[in-house]
Amino acid sequence: MCGKEMDYIQEAFDTNWIAPLGKNVDYFEREIAAYAGVKAAAALSSGTAAIHLALKACGVKQGDIVFCSDLTFAASCNPIIYEQAVPVFIDSERKSLNMSPAALEKAFKKQVPKAVIAVNLYGQSADMAAIKRICDKRNIPIIEDAAESLGATYKDKMSGSIGKFGVFSFNGNKIITTSGGGMLVSDDEEAIAKARFWATQARDQARHYQHSELGYNYRMSNIVAGIGRGQLTILSERIKQKKAIYEYYKNAFEEIGEIEMCPIASWGKPNYWLSIILLEPDSKIKPLDIMLALEKENIESRPVWKPMHLQPFYEHYEFFSDNSDAIAVSEDVFGRGVCLPSDTKMTEKDMARVCGIIKGLF
Ligand SMILES: *Cc1c(COP(=O)(O)O)cnc(C)c1O
Repeated sequence: MCGKEMDYIQEAFDTNWIAPLGKNVDYFEREIAAYAGVKAAAALSSGTAAIHLALKACGVKQGDIVFCSDLTFAASCNPIIYEQAVPVFIDSERKSLNMSPAALEKAFKKQVPKAVIAVNLYGQSADMAAIKRICDKRNIPIIEDAAESLGATYKDKMSGSIGKFGVFSFNGNKIITTSGGGMLVSDDEEAIAKARFWATQARDQARHYQHSELGYNYRMSNIVAGIGRGQLTILSERIKQKKAIYEYYKNAFEEIGEIEMCPIASWGKPNYWLSIILLEPDSKIKPLDIMLALEKENIESRPVWKPMHLQPFYEHYEFFSDNSDAIAVSEDVFGRGVCLPSDTKMTEKDMARVCGIIKGLF
């Protein structure tokens, strides 16, 4: 927290607008929409809820096929299952670790989905122009999962503003947090209004409680939105700090041939949410060695997301890769990647300690 959150929370308390809704919700929606450069936003209880409502807005129903990035967190694709639709997973490309346009094209040759969920992983935008070109040809809407990439750019656009729908998350682990929350954004104001309707139990405009559609309790509270408004004031500062962390690691590991920083594609600026390293395939030191060495010093690190096509729950769904090697790009990255400590509260001394422990292994 930065401190400013308390002012907005206090105002909510003073006016007794706690929930549901209130001024903070309205303003947080407007502020996020303005920041992302889109016409409308709906403040929701989570990023997962935002993906779910985006799928509904795209008309996804039982049995429909939805393409989704393979290398991601399960929240990207779980809502496909909520709607009893069928996920098909698309491999990553090496340039950004995000959805491979070539693999996407391959999947389109076999079948046309109802929607495509393209994830902007670890704070970096996917190659949205290439993905959009493929989807636009068949008029298929893109849901841009920008849960991890708030504040990143793709060419001259903000991450999350390129797909038909964009999704942000304010979960505790993201670049800014409201303790928990999400935002659905779009230029389609009517669709966003519909999402707000679904998110507040789909109550028809009638004096009595009447429901013509299935609803959800997905709205963000006025207190939570107050935290978000405070957090938004420090987002640009956070991005600067995150970039400095990435640069620190990059410089520190320059002399270690086995360590490569997560590739950054030239089409945009990441928000540097997490700093990732990839170990060379022939490195004797493996990700687990690094994680264990850090753990011994009470320092947390994590593996890269485990690809969805390898998940026990998802392994029987179709998966498309363009990689001619024996192994998918997502699987290769999973086997060689480590997410390093990336918290903006870290001091230079903390980072030096992390790097010292890792370099000691080589
Ligand atoms: C965090 C995250 C989500 C889900 O957001 P919640 O607010 O936690 O529901 C979705 N997709 C990705 C890629 C995420 O990292």
